[in-house]
Amino acid sequence: MIAHPGSEVRVLIRSRPTANFAQELIEYLPDGQTVSVHQRKDSRKGVVNNQLSSWSFRLDGVLHDVSQEEVYGRVGRGVVLGALEGYNGTVMCFGQTGAGKTYTMTGATESYKQRGIIPRALQEVFHEVEQRSDHAFSVHLSFLEIYNETLVDLLASVRGCPGVGPGGMAVVEEAGGGVSVRGLSLHPVHSEEAALNLLFEGEMNRIIGAHALNKNSSRSHCILTVHIESRSRTLSDAKYVTSKLNLVDLAGSERLGKTGSEGQVLKEAMYINKSLSFLEQAILALADRRRDHVPFRQTKLTHALKDSLGGNCNTVLVANIYGEASQIEETLSTLRFASRMKCVQMDPVVNEHTDPVLQVRKLEKEIQLLKQELSIHNTLIVSIRQIQEVFSQFKQAMQQQEQKVKAQLCQNYTLVEKSQSTAGSTAAKSQGSQGTVGVVEGHGFGVGLAVPSERHIRLLSPGRTKAIKTKELASQGRKEAVEGRSPGPGKQVESVNPVQRDREGREHDPQSQEPQGPPEPLRTDSPPPKAEAFEDFKAERGSEINRILKENKVVLLERRARLRELTEGVNTAKREIDSTSTALHQWRDKRQSQGQFVSAEGVPVLDEAELSLALHLRELKTQYRQQYEELRGTKAEVSYCQHLVDQCRTRLLTEFESWYNESFLLPEEVQAMLRSGGPIRPGLVPVYKALALEEDEQEHFERLRYELLADSPSAISFYNAQNRTVQRRNYSKAMSQTPVQKNTPRGSGRTKLPAILSVI
Ligand code: ADP
Ligand code: MG
Repeated sequence: MIAHPGSEVRVLIRSRPTANFAQELIEYLPDGQTVSVHQRKDSRKGVVNNQLSSWSFRLDGVLHDVSQEEVYGRVGRGVVLGALEGYNGTVMCFGQTGAGKTYTMTGATESYKQRGIIPRALQEVFHEVEQRSDHAFSVHLSFLEIYNETLVDLLASVRGCPGVGPGGMAVVEEAGGGVSVRGLSLHPVHSEEAALNLLFEGEMNRIIGAHALNKNSSRSHCILTVHIESRSRTLSDAKYVTSKLNLVDLAGSERLGKTGSEGQVLKEAMYINKSLSFLEQAILALADRRRDHVPFRQTKLTHALKDSLGGNCNTVLVANIYGEASQIEETLSTLRFASRMKCVQMDPVVNEHTDPVLQVRKLEKEIQLLKQELSIHNTLIVSIRQIQEVFSQFKQAMQQQEQKVKAQLCQNYTLVEKSQSTAGSTAAKSQGSQGTVGVVEGHGFGVGLAVPSERHIRLLSPGRTKAIKTKELASQGRKEAVEGRSPGPGKQVESVNPVQRDREGREHDPQSQEPQGPPEPLRTDSPPPKAEAFEDFKAERGSEINRILKENKVVLLERRARLRELTEGVNTAKREIDSTSTALHQWRDKRQSQGQFVSAEGVPVLDEAELSLALHLRELKTQYRQQYEELRGTKAEVSYCQHLVDQCRTRLLTEFESWYNESFLLPEEVQAMLRSGGPIRPGLVPVYKALALEEDEQEHFERLRYELLADSPSAISFYNAQNRTVQRRNYSKAMSQTPVQKNTPRGSGRTKLPAILSVI
């Protein structure tokens, strides 16, 4: 029952039972909220005989002939539960001596059933503290008495109490508009029993003090304050909430001055009247929204209650009346006070604070995470820059090579012409000239031409010329076979392919051994198995991206573990919600079969067990929602990390493939190109790929830059997804264009190219 902002202080009337209830003067209307008072004008004052004056007071409820339990339910419970949520709360009893203020607040101490609001509130606080296991509560008690403008600590006698400092006790203002009493002892309490012990100790001190000073306990104001602090156990949050629950038993409001008191009693009456009339003034000022000054500091009572009367506080006033005809003046005065109090507005807000130590710790953690994230980004960017640089240098080197090769080929071209004319081989001549022209007039890319040109030179070396001749002979033999001529004794030409024949020819003829290059270049120079090469690549060329990949994997695993944890937590919370909800429904069904609980006004009300189930369910739902939020965040993180890992893996594979192709497979293709003399097929020349990749890198780099600027996680996810798609497309394009030629028998002269990095 937490007041909505802008609502008024709740005011209830409670009447003390009496055999002489003035029925003709006091009328409780059936709405359960209105009291009408009819007063006969005093005939002795001679104005009008037997004339009746009537007043009607509409408040929030009339508690007539109502049990202590119901009073607690209608007056105290909402305020207590609010205090546990972080709202300040005040329950205050006002009325003449003997009207039942102490009975309402403390109750009859000897009877458990008749215990009042204070012991019930303490019980509820600790019951709730136990129930709300997701929060860590700390509860402290203080017990203040204000007697003749003197502040008395009713718990000063408790063992271990520090005692009042040299300045004595005083009401002091706190930052944020609150007040506290300097020198008032605050006692930590961990159980209902410990709290009740302190209550009884304070009550006892109040009585002893009354005897010693010959004072009447009903002439002092008493404020028992429960100080509550709560921190969430589930959220590693620096935020925490605090509240003060003030349970106030005011001094009797009767106007003693009029009854001709003397001495001590007169002095007391002056103080009480002063403090209560200032309380009334403060309340009038509070009720008047146009007034910006409220005279709180005029008495100790109003000063001490400054943050407990309306404003940021859930305030409930019980106006205790004694419904006998002789007390009608006091009853009227109490009801007037009550209706004024009803005009005071409340704007309760949760008192939320931030723990600076925890906040610093949380921020440090956040900074560390951000740094890690940044370092991952930086490493990616650095590696991309390196790759870009490599490609650009590679391109430059290839262009230089191209120039060199052009020059060399021009030289060789003349040589070829000469040697071919000597050998008289028209085939070689045409091949050589075609190849040379093809290269020179072909595409201007360097890489495809640089090294194969060496092989081209080798092709034209004496040994190679011999080989060509052998091939020619072989083809001649084949021609013979086709024509039905015997190639020679014991030889089945048809079953022997030209290469074999070539090899056999060389084996049989020691003269035919080539002086340059191995006899079987295909076997010695065949590319290493991909798996092996991949390991080498990861250790050397691809070590940086491999390292990033590993790092990303570690982060991904860690986030996944957290996600699993959170999922379990959310599921557990869900199961608990389901079981509590079932229990609540069962309870409701059971209760419905017994008929509905209604209040005195006929309004259906919840019983205690149902209320506590419903509250627990609400608590669980809040908890579930919080955990679910975190779960969603972590899910997004996991998918983000997954994107990073995929991205790195694709890059590693793409780079490996291009490195592998360029390192081991390229020369064959270039050779093929040289032989065919045709234009370079797209995809066969690695420079094409290099350039394409370079463009991709540029694009990728731009994208990453964008990512760093865009702090929205959804933007990052979007870009990662898009990037991955582009990469996958490039990768498959590159793969489809990569020539597969490991087993091609035309591998003669295959030489391992220098690794790309060595160009730098
Ligand atoms: P106050 O504190 O306002 O001076 P008390 O609480 O001491 O008044 O009440 C005076 C007497 O009336 C006490 O004996 C108390 O037990 C009795 N009394 C007051 N209200 C009730 C009530 N609602 N039911 C039963 N007894 C009551
Ligand atoms: Mg009393």
